[in-house]
Amino acid sequence: NYSVVLAENRKLHNEVQELKGNIRVYCRIRPFLRGQKEKQSVIEYIGENGELIVVNPSKQGKEGSRSFKFNTVYSPASTQAQVYSDIQPLVQSVLDGYNVCIFAYGQTGSGKTHTMTGPDGASEEDWGVNYRALNDLFRISQTRESTFKYEIKVQMMEIYNEQVRDLLSSDAVPEASMFPVNGTADVLDLMHTGLRNRAKGSTTMNERSSRSHSIVTIHVQGKDIKSGSSMHSSLHLVDLAGSERVDRSEVTGDRLKEAQHINKSLSALGDVIYALAQKNAHIPYRNSKLTQVLQASLGGQAKTLMFVQLNPEVISYSETMSTLKFAERASGVELGAARSSKDGKDIRELMEQVTSLKDTIAKKD
Ligand code: ADP
Ligand code: MG
Repeated sequence: NYSVVLAENRKLHNEVQELKGNIRVYCRIRPFLRGQKEKQSVIEYIGENGELIVVNPSKQGKEGSRSFKFNTVYSPASTQAQVYSDIQPLVQSVLDGYNVCIFAYGQTGSGKTHTMTGPDGASEEDWGVNYRALNDLFRISQTRESTFKYEIKVQMMEIYNEQVRDLLSSDAVPEASMFPVNGTADVLDLMHTGLRNRAKGSTTMNERSSRSHSIVTIHVQGKDIKSGSSMHSSLHLVDLAGSERVDRSEVTGDRLKEAQHINKSLSALGDVIYALAQKNAHIPYRNSKLTQVLQASLGGQAKTLMFVQLNPEVISYSETMSTLKFAERASGVELGAARSSKDGKDIRELMEQVTSLKDTIAKKD
Protein backbone atom coordinates (compact mmCIF):
# COMPACT_ATOMS: atom_id res chain seq x y z
CA ASN A 1 0.00 0.00 0.00
CA TYR A 2 2.89 2.31 0.63
CA SER A 3 3.87 1.97 -3.00
CA VAL A 4 0.47 3.39 -3.87
CA VAL A 5 1.13 6.39 -1.64
CA LEU A 6 4.57 6.84 -3.13
CA ALA A 7 3.27 6.64 -6.67
CA GLU A 8 0.58 9.16 -5.85
CA ASN A 9 3.16 11.38 -4.20
CA ARG A 10 5.35 11.24 -7.24
CA LYS A 11 2.45 12.13 -9.48
CA LEU A 12 1.51 15.04 -7.27
CA HIS A 13 5.12 16.09 -7.08
CA ASN A 14 5.32 16.18 -10.87
CA GLU A 15 2.15 18.17 -10.99
CA VAL A 16 3.70 20.70 -8.59
CA GLN A 17 6.81 20.88 -10.75
CA GLU A 18 4.69 21.75 -13.72
CA LEU A 19 3.34 24.86 -12.05
CA LYS A 20 6.21 26.90 -13.35
CA GLY A 21 7.03 30.32 -12.10
CA ASN A 22 6.84 33.39 -14.23
CA ILE A 23 7.79 36.99 -14.38
CA ARG A 24 5.43 39.89 -14.68
CA VAL A 25 6.38 43.49 -15.25
CA TYR A 26 4.03 46.24 -14.12
CA CYS A 27 4.97 49.77 -15.07
CA ARG A 28 3.84 52.62 -12.81
CA ILE A 29 4.13 56.28 -13.72
CA ARG A 30 4.55 58.77 -10.91
CA PRO A 31 2.32 61.86 -11.00
CA PHE A 32 3.80 65.36 -11.18
CA LEU A 33 4.28 66.51 -7.64
CA ARG A 34 2.61 69.53 -6.16
CA GLY A 35 4.55 72.68 -6.83
CA GLN A 36 6.43 71.13 -9.73
CA LYS A 37 6.71 73.66 -12.52
CA GLU A 38 7.40 71.39 -15.40
CA LYS A 39 4.25 69.65 -16.56
CA GLN A 40 5.36 68.30 -19.88
CA SER A 41 5.45 64.53 -19.77
CA VAL A 42 7.59 62.22 -21.89
CA ILE A 43 4.81 59.64 -21.68
CA GLU A 44 2.73 60.11 -24.80
CA TYR A 45 0.32 57.22 -24.55
CA ILE A 46 -0.81 54.61 -22.04
CA GLY A 47 -2.82 51.72 -23.46
CA GLU A 48 -5.15 49.45 -21.50
CA ASN A 49 -3.27 46.47 -22.88
CA GLY A 50 -0.04 47.46 -21.17
CA GLU A 51 1.29 49.53 -24.04
CA LEU A 52 3.29 52.64 -23.37
CA ILE A 53 4.69 55.22 -25.79
CA VAL A 54 7.53 57.48 -24.77
CA VAL A 55 8.62 60.53 -26.77
CA ASN A 56 12.07 61.95 -27.01
CA PRO A 57 11.57 65.62 -26.08
CA SER A 58 14.40 66.70 -28.36
CA LYS A 59 13.09 64.94 -31.46
CA GLN A 60 10.01 65.80 -33.45
CA GLY A 61 7.47 63.40 -34.88
CA LYS A 62 7.38 59.66 -35.20
CA GLU A 63 11.09 58.98 -35.09
CA GLY A 64 11.23 60.38 -31.59
CA SER A 65 8.67 57.86 -30.28
CA ARG A 66 9.32 54.42 -28.85
CA SER A 67 6.72 51.96 -27.72
CA PHE A 68 7.01 49.36 -24.96
CA LYS A 69 4.70 46.61 -23.84
CA PHE A 70 4.34 45.29 -20.32
CA ASN A 71 1.76 43.26 -18.45
CA THR A 72 0.18 46.42 -17.09
CA VAL A 73 0.83 50.14 -17.14
CA TYR A 74 -0.54 52.31 -14.35
CA SER A 75 -1.30 55.91 -15.12
CA PRO A 76 -0.26 58.63 -12.65
CA ALA A 77 -3.83 58.59 -11.36
CA SER A 78 -3.66 55.00 -10.12
CA THR A 79 -4.26 54.46 -6.44
CA GLN A 80 -2.44 52.25 -3.93
CA ALA A 81 -5.58 50.15 -3.56
CA GLN A 82 -5.84 49.56 -7.32
CA VAL A 83 -2.24 48.50 -7.59
CA TYR A 84 -2.58 46.13 -4.67
CA SER A 85 -5.79 44.54 -5.88
CA ASP A 86 -3.98 43.51 -9.08
CA ILE A 87 -1.17 41.77 -7.25
CA GLN A 88 -3.33 40.33 -4.47
CA PRO A 89 -3.56 36.87 -6.10
CA LEU A 90 0.21 36.71 -6.20
CA VAL A 91 0.45 37.52 -2.49
CA GLN A 92 -2.24 34.99 -1.71
CA SER A 93 -0.33 32.28 -3.59
CA VAL A 94 2.36 32.46 -0.89
CA LEU A 95 -0.12 30.77 1.47
CA ASP A 96 -0.46 28.02 -1.14
CA GLY A 97 3.25 27.30 -1.06
CA TYR A 98 4.72 29.54 -3.72
CA ASN A 99 7.81 31.66 -3.25
CA VAL A 100 7.21 35.17 -4.53
CA CYS A 101 9.52 38.15 -5.14
CA ILE A 102 8.16 41.63 -5.70
CA PHE A 103 10.64 44.33 -6.76
CA ALA A 104 10.41 48.07 -7.26
CA TYR A 105 12.93 49.25 -9.85
CA GLY A 106 13.58 52.79 -11.04
CA GLN A 107 15.61 55.93 -10.60
CA THR A 108 15.55 57.83 -7.31
CA GLY A 109 12.35 59.85 -7.02
CA SER A 110 10.33 57.61 -9.36
CA GLY A 111 8.03 56.26 -6.64
CA LYS A 112 9.61 52.94 -5.58
CA THR A 113 9.15 53.57 -1.87
CA HIS A 114 5.69 55.03 -2.49
CA THR A 115 4.63 51.77 -4.14
CA MET A 116 6.25 49.43 -1.62
CA THR A 117 5.83 51.31 1.67
CA GLY A 118 3.73 54.40 1.00
CA PRO A 119 4.38 57.92 2.24
CA ASP A 120 5.84 58.51 5.72
CA GLY A 121 3.20 57.93 8.37
CA ALA A 122 0.68 56.97 5.72
CA SER A 123 -2.95 56.45 6.57
CA GLU A 124 -4.35 53.06 5.64
CA GLU A 125 -5.57 54.39 2.32
CA ASP A 126 -2.01 55.31 1.33
CA TRP A 127 -0.41 52.11 2.54
CA GLY A 128 1.95 50.51 0.07
CA VAL A 129 2.29 46.88 -0.92
CA ASN A 130 4.27 45.80 2.18
CA TYR A 131 1.58 46.63 4.73
CA ARG A 132 -1.26 45.49 2.54
CA ALA A 133 0.40 42.16 1.78
CA LEU A 134 1.12 41.36 5.41
CA ASN A 135 -2.35 42.32 6.49
CA ASP A 136 -3.85 40.21 3.75
CA LEU A 137 -1.78 37.18 4.68
CA PHE A 138 -3.14 37.39 8.25
CA ARG A 139 -6.68 37.79 7.04
CA ILE A 140 -6.58 34.85 4.64
CA SER A 141 -4.70 32.57 7.03
CA GLN A 142 -7.46 33.15 9.58
CA THR A 143 -10.15 32.06 7.13
CA ARG A 144 -8.28 28.75 6.72
CA GLU A 145 -7.87 28.22 10.45
CA SER A 146 -9.93 25.03 10.62
CA THR A 147 -7.73 23.08 8.20
CA PHE A 148 -4.43 24.88 8.11
CA LYS A 149 -2.26 26.43 10.75
CA TYR A 150 0.02 29.19 9.58
CA GLU A 151 2.91 30.89 11.30
CA ILE A 152 4.11 34.19 9.89
CA LYS A 153 7.56 35.63 10.56
CA VAL A 154 9.25 38.74 9.25
CA GLN A 155 12.84 39.71 8.43
CA MET A 156 14.02 43.09 7.27
CA MET A 157 17.43 43.71 5.82
CA GLU A 158 19.36 46.18 3.79
CA ILE A 159 22.11 45.54 1.27
CA TYR A 160 24.57 48.39 1.10
CA ASN A 161 27.90 48.11 -0.72
CA GLU A 162 27.37 44.34 -1.04
CA GLN A 163 26.98 43.96 2.71
CA VAL A 164 23.86 42.69 4.38
CA ARG A 165 22.62 44.54 7.44
CA ASP A 166 19.82 43.35 9.69
CA LEU A 167 17.28 46.15 10.12
CA LEU A 168 15.40 44.58 13.01
CA SER A 169 18.27 43.79 15.32
CA SER A 170 21.76 45.09 15.94
CA ASP A 171 23.12 41.64 16.78
CA ALA A 172 25.72 40.64 14.26
CA VAL A 173 24.43 37.20 13.33
CA PRO A 174 24.99 35.55 9.98
CA GLU A 175 21.26 35.41 9.27
CA ALA A 176 18.96 38.40 9.68
CA SER A 177 16.77 37.85 12.72
CA MET A 178 13.20 36.66 12.27
CA PHE A 179 10.28 38.01 14.24
CA PRO A 180 6.92 36.31 14.57
CA VAL A 181 3.98 38.60 13.84
CA ASN A 182 0.42 38.07 14.92
CA GLY A 183 -1.45 41.02 13.58
CA THR A 184 -1.41 44.51 12.13
CA ALA A 185 -0.06 46.13 15.28
CA ASP A 186 3.01 43.87 15.22
CA VAL A 187 3.53 44.67 11.57
CA LEU A 188 3.41 48.42 12.08
CA ASP A 189 5.81 48.08 14.99
CA LEU A 190 8.37 46.09 13.04
CA MET A 191 8.19 48.25 9.94
CA HIS A 192 8.70 51.28 12.11
CA THR A 193 11.80 49.77 13.72
CA GLY A 194 13.14 48.75 10.32
CA LEU A 195 12.64 52.17 8.78
CA ARG A 196 14.23 53.86 11.78
CA ASN A 197 17.28 51.59 11.59
CA ARG A 198 17.52 52.12 7.88
CA ALA A 199 17.86 55.83 8.36
CA LYS A 200 20.62 55.46 10.98
CA GLY A 201 24.07 56.53 9.98
CA SER A 202 22.97 58.61 7.03
CA THR A 203 22.50 62.31 6.58
CA THR A 204 18.94 61.93 5.41
CA MET A 205 16.83 58.85 5.08
CA ASN A 206 16.25 59.39 1.40
CA GLU A 207 19.94 59.67 0.73
CA ARG A 208 20.74 56.33 2.28
CA SER A 209 17.66 54.56 1.01
CA SER A 210 18.38 55.43 -2.57
CA ARG A 211 21.77 53.75 -2.38
CA SER A 212 20.79 50.51 -0.71
CA HIS A 213 18.37 47.70 -1.45
CA SER A 214 15.85 47.06 1.27
CA ILE A 215 14.29 43.65 1.61
CA VAL A 216 11.28 42.74 3.73
CA THR A 217 10.87 38.97 3.83
CA ILE A 218 7.70 37.32 5.05
CA HIS A 219 8.16 33.66 5.93
CA VAL A 220 5.07 31.50 6.02
CA GLN A 221 5.06 28.11 7.67
CA GLY A 222 1.90 26.17 6.98
CA LYS A 223 0.79 22.95 8.60
CA ASP A 224 -2.04 20.72 7.53
CA ILE A 225 -3.76 20.08 10.84
CA LYS A 226 -5.07 16.67 9.86
CA SER A 227 -1.98 15.10 8.30
CA GLY A 228 0.67 17.13 10.09
CA SER A 229 2.50 17.69 6.82
CA SER A 230 4.00 21.13 6.49
CA MET A 231 5.27 23.59 3.92
CA HIS A 232 7.35 26.70 3.94
CA SER A 233 7.25 29.60 1.52
CA SER A 234 8.30 33.19 1.48
CA LEU A 235 7.44 36.56 0.06
CA HIS A 236 10.28 39.00 -0.61
CA LEU A 237 9.38 42.66 -0.95
CA VAL A 238 12.31 44.56 -2.39
CA ASP A 239 12.74 48.32 -2.67
CA LEU A 240 15.82 48.48 -4.92
CA ALA A 241 18.53 51.12 -4.88
CA GLY A 242 18.07 53.94 -7.38
CA SER A 243 18.96 52.79 -10.89
CA GLU A 244 20.27 56.17 -12.11
CA ARG A 245 23.59 56.11 -13.86
CA VAL A 246 26.23 58.03 -12.01
CA ASP A 247 28.61 60.06 -14.09
CA ARG A 248 32.02 58.55 -13.39
CA SER A 249 33.77 61.78 -14.14
CA GLU A 250 31.83 63.55 -11.40
CA VAL A 251 32.07 61.19 -8.47
CA THR A 252 35.02 59.80 -6.58
CA GLY A 253 35.73 57.89 -3.39
CA ASP A 254 32.75 56.55 -1.45
CA ARG A 255 30.22 57.75 -3.98
CA LEU A 256 31.98 56.01 -6.81
CA LYS A 257 32.21 52.81 -4.79
CA GLU A 258 28.50 52.96 -3.94
CA ALA A 259 27.61 53.58 -7.56
CA GLN A 260 29.69 50.64 -8.71
CA HIS A 261 28.07 48.31 -6.19
CA ILE A 262 24.58 49.39 -7.17
CA ASN A 263 25.35 49.05 -10.82
CA LYS A 264 26.82 45.62 -10.30
CA SER A 265 23.89 44.29 -8.29
CA LEU A 266 21.19 45.67 -10.56
CA SER A 267 22.90 44.19 -13.62
CA ALA A 268 23.28 40.90 -11.77
CA LEU A 269 19.55 40.91 -11.05
CA GLY A 270 18.79 41.63 -14.72
CA ASP A 271 21.17 38.84 -15.78
CA VAL A 272 19.59 36.29 -13.44
CA ILE A 273 16.08 37.05 -14.65
CA TYR A 274 17.26 36.95 -18.23
CA ALA A 275 19.10 33.63 -17.78
CA LEU A 276 16.02 32.11 -16.13
CA ALA A 277 13.83 33.29 -18.97
CA GLN A 278 16.23 31.78 -21.50
CA LYS A 279 16.24 28.54 -19.46
CA ASN A 280 20.00 28.62 -19.38
CA ALA A 281 21.75 25.78 -17.59
CA HIS A 282 23.81 28.22 -15.57
CA ILE A 283 22.04 30.95 -13.62
CA PRO A 284 24.57 33.53 -12.38
CA TYR A 285 23.24 33.94 -8.82
CA ARG A 286 26.73 34.34 -7.35
CA ASN A 287 27.44 37.67 -9.00
CA SER A 288 25.88 39.84 -6.30
CA LYS A 289 24.69 39.73 -2.70
CA LEU A 290 21.18 40.65 -3.84
CA THR A 291 20.81 37.64 -6.15
CA GLN A 292 22.45 35.35 -3.57
CA VAL A 293 20.01 36.39 -0.87
CA LEU A 294 17.04 35.92 -3.20
CA GLN A 295 18.30 32.79 -4.95
CA ALA A 296 15.70 30.43 -3.48
CA SER A 297 12.90 32.73 -4.57
CA LEU A 298 14.04 33.43 -8.11
CA GLY A 299 13.48 30.70 -10.65
CA GLY A 300 12.07 27.22 -10.27
CA GLN A 301 8.40 27.56 -9.61
CA ALA A 302 8.80 30.91 -7.86
CA LYS A 303 6.95 33.95 -9.14
CA THR A 304 8.52 37.30 -9.79
CA LEU A 305 6.87 40.67 -10.21
CA MET A 306 8.69 43.87 -10.98
CA PHE A 307 7.22 47.33 -10.58
CA VAL A 308 9.02 49.52 -13.05
CA GLN A 309 8.73 53.04 -11.74
CA LEU A 310 8.90 56.04 -14.06
CA ASN A 311 9.36 59.73 -13.48
CA PRO A 312 7.50 61.43 -16.36
CA GLU A 313 9.55 64.64 -16.37
CA VAL A 314 11.39 65.75 -19.48
CA ILE A 315 14.69 66.01 -17.59
CA SER A 316 14.37 62.31 -16.71
CA TYR A 317 13.99 61.17 -20.31
CA SER A 318 17.28 59.31 -20.65
CA GLU A 319 16.87 57.59 -17.26
CA THR A 320 13.33 56.65 -18.22
CA MET A 321 14.59 55.06 -21.43
CA SER A 322 17.29 53.05 -19.67
CA THR A 323 14.77 51.91 -17.02
CA LEU A 324 12.38 50.79 -19.75
CA LYS A 325 15.10 48.94 -21.62
CA PHE A 326 16.12 47.09 -18.47
CA ALA A 327 12.49 46.13 -17.91
CA GLU A 328 11.96 45.13 -21.51
CA ARG A 329 14.87 42.74 -21.36
CA ALA A 330 13.45 41.19 -18.20
CA SER A 331 9.87 40.94 -19.42
CA GLY A 332 10.42 40.07 -23.07
CA VAL A 333 10.32 36.40 -22.31
CA GLU A 334 8.08 34.48 -19.99
CA LEU A 335 9.77 32.28 -17.42
CA GLY A 336 6.94 29.81 -17.74
CA ALA A 337 3.30 29.62 -18.59
CA ALA A 338 1.06 31.03 -15.91
CA ARG A 339 -0.89 28.22 -14.38
CA SER A 340 -4.52 28.04 -15.33
CA SER A 341 -6.64 28.82 -12.35
CA LYS A 342 -9.37 26.52 -13.58
CA ASP A 343 -7.68 23.16 -13.34
CA GLY A 344 -4.29 24.03 -11.89
CA LYS A 345 -3.73 22.91 -8.34
CA ASP A 346 -1.65 24.63 -5.76
CA ILE A 347 0.55 23.01 -3.15
CA ARG A 348 -2.01 23.37 -0.37
CA GLU A 349 -4.66 21.61 -2.45
CA LEU A 350 -2.20 18.89 -3.36
CA MET A 351 -1.27 18.40 0.29
CA GLU A 352 -4.94 18.01 1.14
CA GLN A 353 -5.20 15.40 -1.59
CA VAL A 354 -2.25 13.49 -0.21
CA THR A 355 -3.91 13.51 3.21
CA SER A 356 -7.16 12.15 1.91
CA LEU A 357 -5.35 9.50 -0.16
CA LYS A 358 -3.43 8.40 2.94
CA ASP A 359 -6.73 8.22 4.81
CA THR A 360 -8.24 6.04 2.12
CA ILE A 361 -5.26 3.72 2.16
CA ALA A 362 -5.24 3.53 5.96
CA LYS A 363 -8.90 2.51 5.90
CA LYS A 364 -8.19 -0.27 3.40
CA ASP A 365 -5.44 -1.72 5.62
P1 ADP B 1 11.91 56.57 -4.77
O1 ADP B 1 11.67 55.65 -3.62
O2 ADP B 1 11.85 55.87 -6.09
O3 ADP B 1 13.13 57.38 -4.63
P2 ADP B 1 9.61 57.96 -3.70
O4 ADP B 1 8.67 56.84 -3.49
O5 ADP B 1 10.31 58.48 -2.51
O6 ADP B 1 10.69 57.60 -4.84
O7 ADP B 1 8.83 59.12 -4.45
C1 ADP B 1 9.34 60.39 -4.67
C2 ADP B 1 8.27 61.43 -4.30
O8 ADP B 1 7.13 61.27 -5.14
C3 ADP B 1 7.78 61.27 -2.88
O9 ADP B 1 7.50 62.54 -2.35
C4 ADP B 1 6.50 60.45 -3.05
O10 ADP B 1 5.60 60.69 -1.99
C5 ADP B 1 5.96 60.97 -4.37
N1 ADP B 1 5.20 59.96 -5.11
C6 ADP B 1 5.72 58.88 -5.73
N2 ADP B 1 4.76 58.15 -6.33
C7 ADP B 1 3.61 58.76 -6.07
C8 ADP B 1 2.23 58.50 -6.41
N3 ADP B 1 1.88 57.44 -7.14
N4 ADP B 1 1.30 59.38 -5.97
C9 ADP B 1 1.66 60.46 -5.23
N5 ADP B 1 2.90 60.76 -4.88
C10 ADP B 1 3.88 59.93 -5.29
MG1 MG C 1 12.94 55.29 -2.00
